[in-house]
Amino acid sequence: MARKNKIAVIGSGLGGLSAAARLAARGFDVDVFEKSAVSGGKAGEVSASGYRFDTGPSVLTMKFVLEDLFSEIGEKLEDYLAVEQLDILCRYFYPDGTLIDAYSGFERLASEIFKKTGTGRQQLNKYFDYCRRIYDLTKDIFLMQSLMELKTYANFDAFRTLFKIREIDSLRTMHEANSDFFSDKRIIQLFDRYATYNGSSPYKAPATLNIIPHVECTMGCYYVREGIRSIPLSIEKAAAKKGVKFYFNSLIDKIVCRKNKVTGIIACGNEFNYDAVISNCDVNYTYNYLLDGGGSFFAEKYKNLEPSSSALVFLWGIRGMNPSLEAHNILFSENYRNEFEQLFTLMQCPDDPTVYIHISSRYKHDDAPSGNENWFVMINAPAAGTLPDWKNEALRMKAIIQKKIKEMLGIELSSLIEYEKIITPEDIERNTGSFRGSIYGISSNSRFAAFLRQSNRSRRYKGLFFAGGSAHPGGGIPLVLLSGKIVSRMIGEML
Ligand SMILES: Cc1cc2nc3c(=O)[nH]c(=O)nc-3n(C[C@H](O)[C@H](O)[C@H](O)COP(=O)(O)OP(=O)(O)OC[C@H]3O[C@@H](n4cnc5c(N)ncnc54)[C@H](O)[C@@H]3O)c2cc1C
Repeated sequence: MARKNKIAVIGSGLGGLSAAARLAARGFDVDVFEKSAVSGGKAGEVSASGYRFDTGPSVLTMKFVLEDLFSEIGEKLEDYLAVEQLDILCRYFYPDGTLIDAYSGFERLASEIFKKTGTGRQQLNKYFDYCRRIYDLTKDIFLMQSLMELKTYANFDAFRTLFKIREIDSLRTMHEANSDFFSDKRIIQLFDRYATYNGSSPYKAPATLNIIPHVECTMGCYYVREGIRSIPLSIEKAAAKKGVKFYFNSLIDKIVCRKNKVTGIIACGNEFNYDAVISNCDVNYTYNYLLDGGGSFFAEKYKNLEPSSSALVFLWGIRGMNPSLEAHNILFSENYRNEFEQLFTLMQCPDDPTVYIHISSRYKHDDAPSGNENWFVMINAPAAGTLPDWKNEALRMKAIIQKKIKEMLGIELSSLIEYEKIITPEDIERNTGSFRGSIYGISSNSRFAAFLRQSNRSRRYKGLFFAGGSAHPGGGIPLVLLSGKIVSRMIGEML
C-alpha cells in the first residue's frame, strides 16, 4: 500500500483544526501539535466558582462556513453542535439614552431604527443592498481563495473585481461611506462599529469592509447552545474520528527546512519528518521563533505591519439578574473618532471606551449559578507592549467601565461581582502566541491590508503553509476556518 503523505499542524486554533480535519478526510496522515493542554487557542474557556465563560469569541457569523467544514469531512454539523440564530443580534445603548435593538430580519430592524432615530426604511434598504453588492463581488476572491495564487485570477471576472474600485468601495473609509448613507450619528456609529470585527478603525479601514454589516444583519448572527468553546471541541472530535492524531502539551521548537524545502519539525530536541507543515501560529512568531529567526526579510516585514486591536477582558460572575440586558450589548462612547485615535494613534486605552457585555448564561443557563449571570466585558485595547504595566491599567479601566455601567444602565456592580478574572493584551499574547496580543492578526487600517497579509502558502519554503488569523483571509471564526480550507486544498493539489 502506498505511504500516506504526512502533514504536521502546529497549533490547534480553529484554523489549524479546520485544515487538519479536512486533510485527514482527504486521506492524509495528520498530526496536530499543541503547546497547551487543550485545543481551541483563542476560543478558550474558564470555569470557576460555578461560572463558565468563553474567553475569546462570542459572536458567530457565516454559519455556512461551519456547515461546509462538517459536510466536507462527511459529517453533519447538527450531530455535533446546536447553532441557533439570535433574535436580537445586539442591544445598543447610547450616551444620550437611546436604546436600539438590532433585530435579525430586515423588517423588524428597519422599524426599530425608524422608531428610534427616524432613519427611513428606504435608506436602510439602500445601504444593505450596497453592502450585499460588495460581498457578492468580493467573497470569492477575498475570502474563499488565496489572493497570491495565479490560479485565483484564471477566471477573468475575479481579476476584474480588483479594478472595480468604485463598486467595492476601496478608496473611501467605512466611516465616509456610512456617513454618505445616513445622517443620524447613532446609525453611523452602529455601522462603523463593524470595523472592530477585524480589529480596525472605521476612520481608516476601507469601505469594502462594509460587507460585515451584510454578513451579520442579513445573513445572521448565531449562538452555539453549548457555548463557543464547543466549536473547537467538536471539530477536534470530528477530526479525531477522521484519524487526526493530537499531541497536547507539545511545544514545537522549530520547523526544519533544507534547501528551501520543509522537511519536518523539532520538538524536545527530536526531529520528525513531514511532507508538509502548516503553521497555525501567529505569522510573526512563526518567522521569529520557528523559522530562521529575527532579521530575515519576512520576519521584518510582518513585524512592521500594524497589528489589529487587542482586548482588555473582564470575566465577572454577577449576583442577580439584569433584565435590561440582552445576550450581546454595546454601551457606546460619546466620541467614537477619539476612541479610535487613542487606540491606534496614541496607543492608549480610551478615556471613554465602548463597552461590550456578553452574557452567555442567557441561553446556556448552566454558565452561571441559578439567579446569577456570567458577564464577559470587553473593551478594545492597544497592542501589548505599548503600556508598561497592564495590571494597573486594567484596574484603572475597570473603574472607568464600572462608572460607565452605573451611569448608562444604573447597575452598581462593585457589590455584585462574586467572581473576577482579568485578561490583558499581554495575557492574550502569552497564552496564544499572538503578536502583541492582537486578536485578529494585522489590522485592516489600510486599503492594501488584504494584500499584505501572509499568504497561505510560503513563497520561500516549499511545503510550508499558514492557516489562522494572521494569514489570509484574516481573523475571526469564519475566516480562520476558511484559511484552513484554502490550505487543505493547496496541499491536496500539491501532494
Ligand atoms: C478576546 C477575543 C474576542 C474575540 N471575539 C471574536 C468574536 O466575537 N467573533 C469572532 O469570529 N472572532 C473573535 N475573536 C477572534 C478569534 O478568536 C480568532 O480569530 C480565532 O479564534 C483565531 O484562530 P487561529 O486559527 O488563528 O488560532 P489561535 O486561536 O491563535 O491558536 C493558535 C494555537 O497555536 C498554539 N501554538 C502557538 N505556538 C505553538 C508552538 N510553538 N507549538 C505548538 N502550539 C503552538 C497556541 O497554543 C494556540 O492554541 C476574538 C478573539 C479574542 C482573543
